[in-house]
Amino acid sequence: MIVSKFGGTSVATAQKISNLCQITKKSLAKDPVIVVSAVAGVTDLLSEIPENPNNAKSKIERIRKIHYDLISNLFKNTQSNEIKNYINQELADLSKHTRKKIYDKSEIDKILAFGEIMSSHIIAKALESSGIPARQIVASDVIVTNDNFGSADFLPAPTKKKTKKVLLPIIKEKIVPVVTGFIGTSKNGKLTTLGRGGSDYTAAIIGFSLNAKEIEIWTDVDGIFTTDPKVAPKAKLIRQISYKEASELAAFGAKVLHPRTIKPAIKAGIAVRVLNTQDPNCQGTLICDKPDLKNPITAISFKRKITLINIYSTEMLFKKGFLAKIFKVFAKYNISIDLVSVSEVTVSVTLENHDHLAKALDELSKFSSVSANTNYGMISLIGEGIVTSSETIKKIFDILDERKILVKMISLGASDINVGLVLQYNRIEEAVNVLHNKLLIKNLNNAK
Ligand code: ADP
Ligand code: ASP
Ligand code: MG
Repeated sequence: MIVSKFGGTSVATAQKISNLCQITKKSLAKDPVIVVSAVAGVTDLLSEIPENPNNAKSKIERIRKIHYDLISNLFKNTQSNEIKNYINQELADLSKHTRKKIYDKSEIDKILAFGEIMSSHIIAKALESSGIPARQIVASDVIVTNDNFGSADFLPAPTKKKTKKVLLPIIKEKIVPVVTGFIGTSKNGKLTTLGRGGSDYTAAIIGFSLNAKEIEIWTDVDGIFTTDPKVAPKAKLIRQISYKEASELAAFGAKVLHPRTIKPAIKAGIAVRVLNTQDPNCQGTLICDKPDLKNPITAISFKRKITLINIYSTEMLFKKGFLAKIFKVFAKYNISIDLVSVSEVTVSVTLENHDHLAKALDELSKFSSVSANTNYGMISLIGEGIVTSSETIKKIFDILDERKILVKMISLGASDINVGLVLQYNRIEEAVNVLHNKLLIKNLNNAK
């Protein structure tokens, strides 16, 4: 059994869905389970509804048009009308959920889930039209999560039980399950979502639960590159990468994989392959336990905008428990921290923007003086050999110095495979390109 996940752009046109059908046809002997994202752009539109409820109607009409266009290009008349009816029913249901002015997190999740529900129906029908028996499965019937709405984590034991119970009989009948990515259900039956980009995580959860042979992530690029190919034109495809490096890349900004994808795969020892829907013959990238590594740096990831928080206290810093007190506040609001640096009187942390950040800062300011600055971005240089290569560390600073790019904060050695640099956000793309081209293009044996 294999799990094949198709991202938003991979299901955005009739041509790409037809590629999806061809890819699935070729893997039928491996009993594929398909996981699909919402059609590209749909989750963005859905997320704008609770942000600006006055515009709900126009957003819903745009969502209807995206699906109608796709359906008209994919199906003949009668079937096309039937599938449009399904979309109309779902959008009528969505309208009922969008009559309020203020939404709580669980209500927002309910709205966001409609994208995957509609795309999975269309794709199951497209597979059937191409002669492959298929069935839509809404993942709230199989994936059980905690109730951290908006970024829920799966609960392994109940998920395994449900996934096996629902999916195994279908697979046995040689019907291809088409599972909605991104969605789960809390223990008390409320719909949850797994965080933006979370369909990759869905694929990993299902792969883990069914002990799949391989998890395939089909996307709009050839695989994992040495850095984002949309930002650095010279980026090269990486053929093999370790679980550890891929996790680190994803956690520090590489959108190609959702950060939580790798953990379930490692737990079950399942290889993950990243592949291009538009070029299925390309080998892609294999993420596995023992790849064939040749360079101190494997890849560079980055976050364009982060928040740098300085927490300053002359009296407190060396008193017992001060750091614990700070981190307790962040933990209370479920805010995760990327980098930390401690000096004599200041603790600096970097993090991504968060709904409850203002509340956390308020609380911190009761026992310290706090400032937040959003003018920064972060670059992470990742590789199993990086921290032990003093020559590489020297080169990093020489390259940035040549360009007069100032490093505001550095994290070296916190993880043995990641060097983190905080820079002015408007120098990030330039720094990514110059570091990438000077450190990774030369001596690159592990790439195409
Ligand atoms: P999907 O819709 O298939 O989930 P995403 O947009 O979430 O696709 O992820 C694919 C994108 O990730 C690519 O188009 C690319 O711009 C971006 N990306 C960022 N870093 C990398 C990297 N190191 N390798 C490949 N792609 C990357
Ligand atoms: N549709 C969701 C999103 O846009 C999940 C995903 O695509 O992985 O974030
Ligand atoms: Mg994605």
